[in-house]
Amino acid sequence: MTNVVGLTCVICGKTYPADFAGYVCPDHGNEGILDVQYDYDAIGETFTKESIGANPDRTMWRYRPLLPIADDAAVPPLTVGGTPMYDAAPLADDLGLAKVWVKDEGREPTASLKDRASAMAVVKAQERGAEVVTTASTGNAAAALSGISASVGQKNVIFVPASAPEAKIAQLLAYGSTVALVNGNYGDAFDLCMEASAAYGWYNRNTGYNPFMTEGKKTAGLEILEDLGWEAPDAIFVSVGDGSIIGGVHKAMKDAFALGWIDKMPRIFGIQSAGSDYLVQAFENGEDVLTKPPIAADTVADSISADLPRDRIKAMAAVTETGGTYLRVSDDEILAAIPTLARGSGVFAEPAGATPYAGLVTAVEKGLVGSDDTVVLLATGSGLKDVASALKAVAAVGTTPMRIDPNLDSLRAALNN
Ligand SMILES: *Cc1c(COP(=O)(O)O)cnc(C)c1O
Ligand SMILES: [Zn+2]
Repeated sequence: MTNVVGLTCVICGKTYPADFAGYVCPDHGNEGILDVQYDYDAIGETFTKESIGANPDRTMWRYRPLLPIADDAAVPPLTVGGTPMYDAAPLADDLGLAKVWVKDEGREPTASLKDRASAMAVVKAQERGAEVVTTASTGNAAAALSGISASVGQKNVIFVPASAPEAKIAQLLAYGSTVALVNGNYGDAFDLCMEASAAYGWYNRNTGYNPFMTEGKKTAGLEILEDLGWEAPDAIFVSVGDGSIIGGVHKAMKDAFALGWIDKMPRIFGIQSAGSDYLVQAFENGEDVLTKPPIAADTVADSISADLPRDRIKAMAAVTETGGTYLRVSDDEILAAIPTLARGSGVFAEPAGATPYAGLVTAVEKGLVGSDDTVVLLATGSGLKDVASALKAVAAVGTTPMRIDPNLDSLRAALNN
């Protein structure tokens, strides 16, 4: 039993039954992404703020009645979710804001928020008896699928651009996935994975295609609200590539609002690199994301490099329906955000994980958030995912280590006292 009542196409609004075996609306092909609908009345009868609070399970599965899985479905043993959110007072002081919270998704088992979606994918794949599950990824979704699959012995095939950061590729290989390093970008890897999945009948986890990934990712948003005592923050800042995470955060807010757990919607801010700003362009120019052609993305923040954001319809709605904004930041601002975020909160993030901070700086400059506002930054992935970028970032702000001989005199000389 689940509380799912159907799957609704984000383009035409047609609803398919809860046990629909496809991924997308047949009338709209790959763009016809489905949104999972729940019976909130039934859920609200027994699943309440109080019952959640009493549940000792801190993982993402504590929200199971709001997830598209059966109440007795087995879930992977890795601890996914329950990541900490820190009150970053130094950052709030610097920016003149009431509060800045930093949610550290680098603390997931494979060190990014993607574990929430991949855990969901593995449960759904096993529910369907899939022999193989597959995904294309810029790296983190792959590492997540790889790690979660390893924890349950699920075969998987991974497609990543050959240029993915080494740490992410190392994870895939360590977990024993079948790994295809594709000579091309994420879009090429995505298209090939889609073809392979259809040709071989593999269960397809692809972002902006599999409707259940949003549901896994939304658990990060539910945790934010629960950690804040179900008092919605004023704004949530999310970095955006395919737009699935921001869609998931929006879904969490909609779920909580529908259940009467929060009484206002936070504004959701989508932050993109200037080198991968499809959604910022569309937002600024009022372009229809169904017809806007792909761009040529190029950014240091590999996790948010997307020529054509696959989940762009949900991603646009997340911002427009909440009174938020799409903002672009430069790669230099993204890199600078890595040490600033680390020094002001203790959270060491990869470029895409630090991007929301760069976006917050821009939002403050533009007067979009101010001294009364409580802001949440979603730090989506660990800095250890991309050490090369971190080293570039600290070099750019002039941070260098002392090179000394192993004696006190040498240390004194270096410290000048
Ligand atoms: C995937 C990812 C993002 C962006 O998520 P989308 O759903 O593609 O918008 C941001 N940060 C990190 C670390 C990621 O892995
Ligand atoms: Zn449709």
